[in-house]
Amino acid sequence: MTEKERLRDVFHGCIIGGALGDALGYPVEFQSYDSIVSHYGERGIQDLVIRHKGFAEFSDDTQMTLFTMDGLRQGILRAEYKGVSAKPEWYISLAYQDWLATQEGTRETHNSFTELFRQEKGLDEWRAPGNTCMSALAAQNVGSPNPPYSNEIYSMEHPGNQSKGCGGVMRVAPIGLMLRPGHWISKDGPAHTAGQAAAITHGNPLGYLPAAYLAELVNRLTYRKDVGDSEEGSVDLMVSMQKALDVIDETFAGTPSLDYFDEIVEKAWRLAEETNEKELEGLLEAQKRVEIMNMDVRNIHAIGGGWVGEEALAIALYCAARYPYDFHQALRIAVNHSGDSDSTGAITGNILGAFLGMKEIEAQCKEEERPFAIEKLEMVDRIRFWTDQALEVVMRE
Ligand SMILES: [Mg+2]
Repeated sequence: MTEKERLRDVFHGCIIGGALGDALGYPVEFQSYDSIVSHYGERGIQDLVIRHKGFAEFSDDTQMTLFTMDGLRQGILRAEYKGVSAKPEWYISLAYQDWLATQEGTRETHNSFTELFRQEKGLDEWRAPGNTCMSALAAQNVGSPNPPYSNEIYSMEHPGNQSKGCGGVMRVAPIGLMLRPGHWISKDGPAHTAGQAAAITHGNPLGYLPAAYLAELVNRLTYRKDVGDSEEGSVDLMVSMQKALDVIDETFAGTPSLDYFDEIVEKAWRLAEETNEKELEGLLEAQKRVEIMNMDVRNIHAIGGGWVGEEALAIALYCAARYPYDFHQALRIAVNHSGDSDSTGAITGNILGAFLGMKEIEAQCKEEERPFAIEKLEMVDRIRFWTDQALEVVMRE
């Protein structure tokens, strides 16, 4: 496999993996665990729900993730063409204005930045978009895509609000993928860039620190940064998770709430590690499955609901750390709880997708009792197409 083929597998795994988690959780986003279980049975929601058009629908999380990806791509292309470049987060903010126009129904009068906006009318669907994302974007004057660049964009230094919702973290995985080491777009690093991209709509540190962490982790997994620290040249998910936290501690030293952020991330790891399956000895297979599920749900509820950024990230880290090689089980656990199921599903899918790659996800989907039908995910071929487009510009020098 060439390096480009390997990266393609990781890019697809991360983006489609995230979309699968989002689509799995979207039908139960606003349901309590009790109501999920009473509706879907004692093991909760287990498979994609196929809607009236014959596909499983993803939500605003995947929509905004795709806009992040195409904003960066468009920015790289524009900078190459014009010979001047802005900060990556500025291109991303233009892409988010495109997304806002899809949601506000102002497509006809909107001055678009991304190809994605122009070509994909399917993204105009209203999928419970976050109020904070909508209102913060509507309040900013981004201006035109040409210099001089607007300085009215919200940032970590000049926050527009104090929101810490998970809308900042659930959309930034492409930053981890696309900030290839050595490429000019990577100058500020994935953590800082994703922090700024989240701060466009979420000004509280607990809104942007989780985004910074997710992009850093995805970047480490994508570019195999920690292989030297593990045996046999393989990527060790826990090593990369720990190193990503070290980078956040260093990059954001002195930021309010950083200690609390560290605490909740470490709590998630501890719960994932401590979960003791000895209690399950002697139980029948079916009982065991239910007991394990109950244990995971208890742990997730102990972390939180995932409506705020740090909880959504920590829940995803719990699921990924607990089932690093079992994509389905990790996603099922990630969505069956009382909190923000589509966002925790999306982030878990981003992380494990980058870790396992698309081919591994596809292989797992073909196994018995693992019935996710990837082709039933809406727009999946278009997601593949846009992900390939992003990879193309990242691989060019
Ligand atoms: Mg959503």
